[in-house]
Amino acid sequence: MRKLPAIILLSLCTALTPALAEPVRVLSPDGLTYVDVAVDNGRATYSAGYRRVASAPAKKGKRAAAVRTDTVDVPMLEASPLGLSATVADWTESLTLTGVERGHASDTYTLRTIKQSAVSYEANTAVFHLVDAHRHNLDVEFQVSNSNIAFRYRVPQQGETAAIVVGSEATGFRMPAGTTAFICPQSDPMIGWKRTKPSYEEEYVLDAALPIASKYGHGWTFPCLFREGDKGWMLISETGVSSDYCASHLSDVTADGLFTIAFPMEGENNGFGSTGAQMGLPAATPWRTITLGTTLKPIVETTITWDVVRPLYEPVLPYTTARNTWSWIVWQDASIVYADQMTFIDLAAKLGWEGCLIDGGWLTNIGRERMELLFQHCREVGVRPWVWYNSNGGWNDAPQCAKQCMHNPIVRKREMAWLMENGVQGIKVDFFAGDKQETMRLYEAILSDANDYGLQVIFHGCTLPRGWERMYPNYVSSEAVLASENLIFSQHFCDLEAQNACLHPYVRNAVGSMEFGGTLLQRRLNRSADGGTTRRTSDVFELATAVAFQSSVQNFALTPHDLEHQPSFEIDFMRGVPTIWDETRYIDGYPGRDLVLARRHGDNWYVVVMNAAATAKTYNLELPMFQPQQQLVCLSDGADGRMPTQTMVRLSKHSALTVSVQPQCAVVLMK
Ligand code: CA
Repeated sequence: MRKLPAIILLSLCTALTPALAEPVRVLSPDGLTYVDVAVDNGRATYSAGYRRVASAPAKKGKRAAAVRTDTVDVPMLEASPLGLSATVADWTESLTLTGVERGHASDTYTLRTIKQSAVSYEANTAVFHLVDAHRHNLDVEFQVSNSNIAFRYRVPQQGETAAIVVGSEATGFRMPAGTTAFICPQSDPMIGWKRTKPSYEEEYVLDAALPIASKYGHGWTFPCLFREGDKGWMLISETGVSSDYCASHLSDVTADGLFTIAFPMEGENNGFGSTGAQMGLPAATPWRTITLGTTLKPIVETTITWDVVRPLYEPVLPYTTARNTWSWIVWQDASIVYADQMTFIDLAAKLGWEGCLIDGGWLTNIGRERMELLFQHCREVGVRPWVWYNSNGGWNDAPQCAKQCMHNPIVRKREMAWLMENGVQGIKVDFFAGDKQETMRLYEAILSDANDYGLQVIFHGCTLPRGWERMYPNYVSSEAVLASENLIFSQHFCDLEAQNACLHPYVRNAVGSMEFGGTLLQRRLNRSADGGTTRRTSDVFELATAVAFQSSVQNFALTPHDLEHQPSFEIDFMRGVPTIWDETRYIDGYPGRDLVLARRHGDNWYVVVMNAAATAKTYNLELPMFQPQQQLVCLSDGADGRMPTQTMVRLSKHSALTVSVQPQCAVVLMK
């Protein structure tokens, strides 16, 4: 494979004639991922795909070294529109390409909190200079790395006009015929519990043939996964959304396969705030990202979400990870009282975990004075407290306290000073108002203020994070998924738990930390473990989710009941499981059916094999991350899926192992 020399920020200006309709190609450093950009009849489009290396047999009598290799284009995205409409200009038609600036981007960085700790990024770049009929300038910037494409618009100042509002984008993604989709609908605004939606808590459609109508008629939330038959897979998302723009999603798809960027709905935030984006020029939009390949490997392992963004401020502390106990998930609202919180602080201490999350309702049920006693107890037993807040404000009817503490800087900073004085490690802020720029400003304000007070932040009832692990160093994770609470609320979600768990690492969790709140070990999901919903997954399946789901702070669902009733190897596993990883490798699996994934923490690899299918499945695993004939600890559920055991297994001399996994069961392998 040809490796191009790393020429950092080398730019070469190429003047192109306005009439040129021939597409301009940008290739990844390995030459195997491409984007073609064209301007034709005043409209700018791009298409993308990968190049398959096809070897032609050597002619008779020629030496083997003379084997010819050609590349064949495999298109994954058909010609799709570019452009946006703003108050100053309409850059969707009458466009002329005035030049292309080619270059190279190179970066190495540390990404402590998700997938891979040390990242090296190389991309070829191209900026396409466009003008409309009135000479208003718009640049489209592409970065093409191996298996990834990121692009955004850059808007220079337009004469004296330095402030614009973007009303809509033409940006689209056109799928070839035969594509199927793994996608999640955007909800109506101001629906659901206490009018708190949208909050990215809808059910995915799996492998659905296009075109398909979305449940609410508002399109689909990021990220969106597509399968193009035998050609491969494509994941579309966006990153780099800060207070400077709104968050977007994909529209409903047209009959001929076109999705376009859709802005927030008018009704979000109780109808308050614009659906568009206010920009002070010069400025850039968020990046839209495409990850593609013949297999799911580049999608599960991609770091494009973080490759193209930068930290927006320095951390005031070296923020740490945590495993937290969390009473609310199984014991629910009634547990947000002093005695039960003492129980869960002590549970964290018994498990050797770092923290305890005190959920909503504490202000009324416990009060500030007795909260300070809980904080003091935390200090005594070496557990760091996390405290829940309602983001409101005035955007929905969510009643839990503490509220009116996070919505403006005056009360927020007063609250955060109190938390800092009491040794609180972080906050979990819930019930946000959607994707408008107005709400993006609140997310950023909370993160920025929290950093000033040395606090980490988890968001719940919220939007998808878009590059935030790198942009905001005290950001931890976001819910933005049908999380573990639904397993308590409804048997339906227990019945689908294995399927959804084998979906998230390919889609939702592939582009952002996911605050799922998982690993439920009780069979019956109520306080006394004798009623409520019934868990369908095996014990080892639940343990495997602790590795499969990524959040640098995990609020696990273990209860005091588990310590008395579960096999001790399960509790020991949960005492030791890390929440941050140095490396992530996709091995096998299919979204919604199964997952074979390996993650490394320091020198320790954890391999999970999770089967959500209706029948048992046998996996012939090749595990080159271990030594030949190495002995491994193997957690499995036994022949009937109901006999969790820990055994030792030995790899073959080729580091291979065959395991059989029952439906809704798993195997975990580690040194
Ligand atoms: Ca929720």
